[in-house]
Amino acid sequence: MKELNTIGRYWKKKYGEKVYKIPISISGFTCPNIDGTVAKGGCTFCENDSFAPNLQKEKKSDFKLHPSNPQNPMLGNQLLQLQTQFENTKETLQNKFGAKKFIVYFQSFTNTYAPIETLKALYEKALSFDNVVGLSIGTRTDSITDEILDYLEELNQTKEIWIEYGIQTVYDSTLKKINRGHDFANIVEWIEKTKKRNLLVCGHMIFGLPDEDQEMMLKSVEESLKLNLDSIKFHPLYVVKNTILTKDYTDGKFTPISEELYLDTLVKSIKMLPDNVSISRVTAGISDDSLLSPMWCNDKHRQMYNIKQALLKEDLIY
Ligand code: SF4
Repeated sequence: MKELNTIGRYWKKKYGEKVYKIPISISGFTCPNIDGTVAKGGCTFCENDSFAPNLQKEKKSDFKLHPSNPQNPMLGNQLLQLQTQFENTKETLQNKFGAKKFIVYFQSFTNTYAPIETLKALYEKALSFDNVVGLSIGTRTDSITDEILDYLEELNQTKEIWIEYGIQTVYDSTLKKINRGHDFANIVEWIEKTKKRNLLVCGHMIFGLPDEDQEMMLKSVEESLKLNLDSIKFHPLYVVKNTILTKDYTDGKFTPISEELYLDTLVKSIKMLPDNVSISRVTAGISDDSLLSPMWCNDKHRQMYNIKQALLKEDLIY
């Protein structure tokens, strides 16, 4: 039996205790793939509130950040949101699990797609909270700059700085189909630049993208690992209401991945990982009625049970 290098085990080894990720959603952030800079409508599966529970509780505003506009009248409000979300989640984690150390996770939308002054204010505020050991910043490879990377490299001298990039697939044909707005060459270019600065990179992969078979999914993992990722997240593609994918699904043009194929692809992918690449996530789902398909994605506990069992059959402990 072999214990897998999960991100939880990686942090426990590094800090001597469990580290908890606190997801943050700051209103005003958007995405170049939504605001028309790269495309409109976003990735075909994107309905951002579906993975941003904190955002739904915030009063939404029409103001949207853009990297070329240094004016940010919302900054005070954004800093307050950050503090409130952090304190609330921290309290829950402390009461439930006795949590002591935290990583602040800028999760929703594209969290480097803003003027650098705004990014600095938010990141430095997050790092100033007690017992925060680092940041994890979710973004796109077409929304990062040398200036931001240089700045994050400085932060990384004293704190642990992760950049989470959506890779999803290495096939340009698929990236086009999902309206991603950039190609794989862009992913390679910016992950290489990020790694050159010794920042930690977590790559997100999606299984079950339109017209991809298992060979393509595994090839995507294999090619992505060549970029020296430090961690990896795996997700199945599921369809939620009010997305571009909804129409393809209801028109019969898109069939979601089966749980059997997902499990088999996941296990094969995990067996490909070098020991130094930690696993940050092995599935995703949504338990409310916004989920259209596949229905096996509606119960996270059952998904995790099935994944752990499938890995155990290979003598792997998740
Ligand atoms: S990059 Fe993320 S936020 Fe932007 S459209 Fe795609 S899924 Fe949505």
